[in-house]
Amino acid sequence: MTHVITSLCLRDGGCVEVCPVECIVPGVPQDQYPTYYIDPDTCIDCGACVPACPYNAIFPEHDVPSAYVAKGGEYISRVGLTGHYEGTNHHGVKVVLNTVKQLEPGETVDLTPDIEANAEYFRSGPGYKANDTDEARAARGG
Ligand code: SF4
Ligand code: SF4
Repeated sequence: MTHVITSLCLRDGGCVEVCPVECIVPGVPQDQYPTYYIDPDTCIDCGACVPACPYNAIFPEHDVPSAYVAKGGEYISRVGLTGHYEGTNHHGVKVVLNTVKQLEPGETVDLTPDIEANAEYFRSGPGYKANDTDEARAARGG
């Protein structure tokens, strides 16, 4: 089992600070990997990251919703979307995303593809190498 970061992630970075096994990594480059990702082979399922996420983006793998019902106003962030979002992360660093969509109340979204996206990021994507990039250092506030 593992926990999974879904497309509701807006790169706040707060989850990284609480993970006891340091298995949460920012997606880099951001235009190809717009969220943060959890390494399923290292996650110990402690659940500490869940309340640390201001966007409720993290779920135990078996609870990732196939039909997430939007409250309205929240964003999903996926390659191929074209909306714009600006905010600040856990460290007060500006976050700009151009791969988002703001959801309407009652709109449903299948978040289960994000299970494979988290695994793939570590299997064939940048994985932990992302931590050593300038982009990741900037997200941590330098
Ligand atoms: S705390 Fe939530 S929004 Fe922030 S990086 Fe983690 S999953 Fe993404
Ligand atoms: S469940 Fe625990 S070990 Fe897994 S990513 Fe979250 S904080 Fe880290």
